[in-house]
Amino acid sequence: MGINRRSFLKVLGGGVVGGGLVGVASGSIVTPGKFKAEATVPPKEFLGILVDTAKCVGCRSCEAACAEANHLPVPDIADDSVFQKERQPTVTQLMVINRYQTDQGEVFVKRQCMHCNQPGCVAACLVKAMEKRKEGPVTWEKNCMGCRYCMPSCPFDIPKFEYHSANPKIMKCTMCWDKLEKGEKPACVENCPENALIFGPRKQLIEEANRRIYQKPGEYITHIYGEHEVGGTGYLYISKVPFEKIGFRTDLGTIAYPEYSKGFLYSVPIVLLLWPAFLIGINTLTKREEDARRKGGEKR
Ligand code: SF4
Ligand code: SF4
Ligand code: SF4
Repeated sequence: MGINRRSFLKVLGGGVVGGGLVGVASGSIVTPGKFKAEATVPPKEFLGILVDTAKCVGCRSCEAACAEANHLPVPDIADDSVFQKERQPTVTQLMVINRYQTDQGEVFVKRQCMHCNQPGCVAACLVKAMEKRKEGPVTWEKNCMGCRYCMPSCPFDIPKFEYHSANPKIMKCTMCWDKLEKGEKPACVENCPENALIFGPRKQLIEEANRRIYQKPGEYITHIYGEHEVGGTGYLYISKVPFEKIGFRTDLGTIAYPEYSKGFLYSVPIVLLLWPAFLIGINTLTKREEDARRKGGEKR
């Protein structure tokens, strides 16, 4: 006998309401303060990457280096046709360069995970498969249970799921975490011939960005994208044209995404206890639906 997704949510909804009352009455609950501290307070200094879009020439060497470093298919970087449409990172390409025509000429923009200071993807993942390293990078680990809650929790639409793999992973830029652990720089930074990418402590990158902006008035707009957006990001950008003209979302605000869910996740402690069961249930149902679809057992 099967159970569909709606029934599952109804059953779970009843459990949350009933369980919440029991949990509050008994007082035997994980303290919200502990979770708040772990989930929202960043260490003093993160590593990051400053992208100077005024220096980028769109050579796509970074794309090739990224693919090689991550053992993914290396794109043909001589193929200019990719610039005909705006691209997003995919499961086989963790970063892309897009080209924008602006009133100040062509501008090339690197796109990948932003390594948020307080990442929505990490807050949504209670099995801690997504992790904000104390050094700054946001990485993915193999204990992922495939719930894919990280995907809609990302303000930049970055995590991608390998739907067609027998052992699917969430694919996204890790800031070359395995290289950083060996004391090396990220592959894209190492292979940029124009020094358009600078790797280092985020605080110093912001100082460098400000130095460029104020030493060359007129060459840059006075905005460092990522300094404050969604609570700050590890990737930072400077530009000669307003960011909304080169594909950036400028409507995200400065509040970190996990802050929005705090009232729900942290003030109703029983939810924390039931959340893994909820995710496992969703995951099982989703897998079952996908299996049925694959076997042609479901008609749309
Ligand atoms: S950009 Fe998205 S995937 Fe990357 S750290 Fe932020 S929330 Fe996570
Ligand atoms: S930091 Fe590493 S994984 Fe991220 S875009 Fe650069 S090369 Fe790719
Ligand atoms: S390698 Fe450097 S200059 Fe070339 S596309 Fe990438 S960021 Fe731009």
